[in-house]
Amino acid sequence: MKKATQQQTKEHNRNLVLQMVFEHENISRAEISRLTSLTRTTVSDLVAELIDERLVAEVGIGESQGGKSPILLSLVKDARYVIGLDLAHDQFHGAIVNLRGEICETVTLPILDWDSESALAAVYRILDQLTQSSFQPLVGIGVGTPGLVNTNEGIVINAVNLEWKDLPLAHLLRSRYNLPVFVMNDSQAAALGEYTYGAGHRSEDNLIVINVGHGIGSGIIINGRLFQGDGGGAGEIGHLNVVRSGGILCRCGNRGCLETVANARAVLRDAQTLTGATRERSDNGEHHGMSLDSLKQAYDQGDPLARQVINDAGYFMGLAISSLIGTLNIHKIVLVGEMTCFGKSWLDVIAETLPKTALAGLAKNTRVEIGQLGENGVILGASALLLKDYSLLFSRE
Ligand SMILES: [Zn+2]
Repeated sequence: MKKATQQQTKEHNRNLVLQMVFEHENISRAEISRLTSLTRTTVSDLVAELIDERLVAEVGIGESQGGKSPILLSLVKDARYVIGLDLAHDQFHGAIVNLRGEICETVTLPILDWDSESALAAVYRILDQLTQSSFQPLVGIGVGTPGLVNTNEGIVINAVNLEWKDLPLAHLLRSRYNLPVFVMNDSQAAALGEYTYGAGHRSEDNLIVINVGHGIGSGIIINGRLFQGDGGGAGEIGHLNVVRSGGILCRCGNRGCLETVANARAVLRDAQTLTGATRERSDNGEHHGMSLDSLKQAYDQGDPLARQVINDAGYFMGLAISSLIGTLNIHKIVLVGEMTCFGKSWLDVIAETLPKTALAGLAKNTRVEIGQLGENGVILGASALLLKDYSLLFSRE
């Protein structure tokens, strides 16, 4: 029993040292000792072990603080790799990511048949390829999937687009690839990605990341940790009711959900309806088969209909954000996903809605901005979840 405790203490200390190396570009043993309150000898022993494991390397000499110039240590970013998967779009993306969140290799597969077996087969095809790549050793697979997920057990409870219901995805992938697997909701993964690799988020910060693409979901980070709620569905704001009466039927079965008025699908539908009406009058057939790109082009050129559609979507987004502000009072909100292509003017409509629909004192201190990771957010977040578990980095524990 005592032995186990010593081992636990040692692992705890080792993780603390590793955390310091992860959090700094370069750091000396003395600085680690100062920041962790571990003795110099303990730090030296643990660093030696991490160097043995090839996770840490001595990279140069730092500036003297009076005495001898310290040797600087740095993370060996290519010592281990993880795989991140993003299943949230009309094509699946997979990537190999190194310890600094740099993408080393990617595989993309368009999904043609949307049924549960084809979707799972596509996941296997991507992973078959990535696990055979030259980037080794791999320490795990992180998956960001749309839908409701039980992250602890790695079960996709319900992902409507993929027709997955109670799918034990982690178990399936673990037995096929013999690697640890984490599965999480795509918006929660995007939040973790933004928090880990986006700019300016300090550990212990609070943050809400809202993913506004073909669906709408959010990830809530409280004190530096993802908050998933009791059933894993915290942040599922896409089905908040924002249209009082006569709302459009949502894929969830209710009417007037946020997703029916504020996501990419909704703005394309509205734009098509409006331009269709115009077309009848002007006989202008150019608007057929509208894509988000063409809508954005019209929007950037100041097309009044495009402006109206995006402004309406922004207003409803603002309304939903006001509910989040009123519930959680988190100051920093980051928007990611396809709708961010409408940029600052869309953001401005959202920001202008907040003081009108949330308590003024709360809205005033809330900052809404657009995320920085672009389309890689979900992949990076899914892989970041693995990197938070340092024990996976060690060959055999
Ligand atoms: Zn709904």
